[in-house]
Amino acid sequence: TYVIASACIDEKAADCVDVCPVDCIAEGPDQYYIDADTCIECGACEAACPVGAVFWDEELPEEEKSFIVKAEEFYKNR
Ligand code: SF4
Repeated sequence: TYVIASACIDEKAADCVDVCPVDCIAEGPDQYYIDADTCIECGACEAACPVGAVFWDEELPEEEKSFIVKAEEFYKNR
């Protein structure tokens, strides 16, 4: 799936929300989060993000990998 990482924190440009065809990006207190269960992996959010915060999960830099779990926790606790 696609994952929104640290560059979103306090940036929250939200361009991704407008382009997501399945409306699976929600606003959290500090950043936006992609719902992996609904994402169809189209990549539109990655292309739209002005700060390069969105990554294909397997291409996340090592120091950003915790954002996979952070998104899972966000949707688990909603
Ligand atoms: Fe939405 Fe596509 Fe991004 Fe998944 S990859 S969150 S479906 S815009």
